[in-house]
Amino acid sequence: MLVQNYAAEGKSIARREGKVFFIQGAVPGDVVDIQLTRNKKDWAEGEVIHFKKYAAERTEPFCQHFGICGGCQWQMLPYKEQLKYKEQQVADQLQRISKIPLPGINPILGCDEIIHYRNKLEYTFATRPFIPKEIFREMKMRGDSPESAGVGGFHAKGMFDKIVEIDVCHLQSPPTNEIRKAVVHFCLMHKIPFYDIKKQEGWLRNTQIRIAQTGESMVNIIVGFEHEDWVENLFTFLQQTFPQITTWLYTINEKRNDSIADLEPIIFSGRGYIFEKLEHYQYKIGPKSFFQTNTKQAEKLYRVVRDFSALKGHEIIYDLYCGTGSIGLFLSNKAKHIIGVELIREAVDDAIENARLNHIEHADFFQGDVLEVCDQTFFEKQGKPDVIITDPPRAGMHESLVKKLLEIAAPKIVYVSCNPATQARDLALLADQYEVEKIQPVDMFPHTHHIENVVSLTLKEI
Ligand code: SAH
Repeated sequence: MLVQNYAAEGKSIARREGKVFFIQGAVPGDVVDIQLTRNKKDWAEGEVIHFKKYAAERTEPFCQHFGICGGCQWQMLPYKEQLKYKEQQVADQLQRISKIPLPGINPILGCDEIIHYRNKLEYTFATRPFIPKEIFREMKMRGDSPESAGVGGFHAKGMFDKIVEIDVCHLQSPPTNEIRKAVVHFCLMHKIPFYDIKKQEGWLRNTQIRIAQTGESMVNIIVGFEHEDWVENLFTFLQQTFPQITTWLYTINEKRNDSIADLEPIIFSGRGYIFEKLEHYQYKIGPKSFFQTNTKQAEKLYRVVRDFSALKGHEIIYDLYCGTGSIGLFLSNKAKHIIGVELIREAVDDAIENARLNHIEHADFFQGDVLEVCDQTFFEKQGKPDVIITDPPRAGMHESLVKKLLEIAAPKIVYVSCNPATQARDLALLADQYEVEKIQPVDMFPHTHHIENVVSLTLKEI
């Protein structure tokens, strides 16, 4: 069947006899045979098993791991096409779901650099490499074990215990790959055991590498248990091999899951954190801090938020879901007061620290659930908002928060979203009192189907 268009989440669409097929792994213009994975009356989902014809717009993926590594799904499309589809998707979703009058959409802001754009990457080390089916079958026939002493890379799509061994990932600048390989090599040479998540044994688990535009960089290696000698030996070797890395840390994770949110990283050398810069604002990033992953695009995104806020300097700005306060602080020299609200305690601490670092005294940050913090008394106490910035997670805003925003009736809302579908739903709820003024998609993640979209809303005059 002929693939006709893109649907959401990187799937594409074909139609036959009134039925819609959502297809993984194809692009519009491909002619494919598919195997159905779900089949309902009006729609079905499937995966490509055979390409009869490739779409003319396809290009050769530049990464050798494309197709097996789940990281980049769209490398078979030239960047220009990726942007076109992202823009189109924002338009489709906003129109189809919100069903409200919308202005024209500004052309998507693409990246100038489409490789090395991530400031943070996380690799996993494991004893279970992902092996493609055909090779696995052959190995089994030969009686070879699919396990290995150790590999480093990314989780295979949908598999918690299998790792795609990576040679070169193009998403972060050097020496990201060299560090990962050096860790693997050192541990294999010294018989230091890699972690087996099924058996829950082994030492070497993950690493997070952050490389900032400021030239500072931080590597945190997560290990399964305390072992002073291995820490000392591995880090001494790494420090000598990569003198450009400004701080080295390790974290002991004895739990079954990979989250380090509840763990305390230990500094091996350096300050234990790095600085990143957006325009002239400095942000301190610790091993557990959240920071926008694409620094250059974060700058563009925040500029859009600043432009859409149309500040004169006297405004009280609320920055809801503020994370480490980065948006509010970026707008601070054009505002009278910034009030940030964020759930995660550590992020709020970072926000306060970032305000201090930038000598910003007219910013206050509050920890808690926006639904609980943002009640009538809070708005009365902190002052009537001129602009509300909201940047919720993928699920969008909770309905009760939308209701609250309608009651508060700030003259302007700037809504930053990583999911146009939930954004569209929320815009519809706001539509009684608010008009959509501007729409600006921004591409933060080339080669993936992720989309960031900024919408400004103005209070209707009644
Ligand atoms: N605006 C920030 C971060 C946005 S990410 C930036 O640009 O860097 C969304 C943030 O919402 C996360 O930091 C998350 O911890 C926070 N969050 C999620 N649910 C929340 C809730 N119910 N109340 C307050 N904050 C919440």
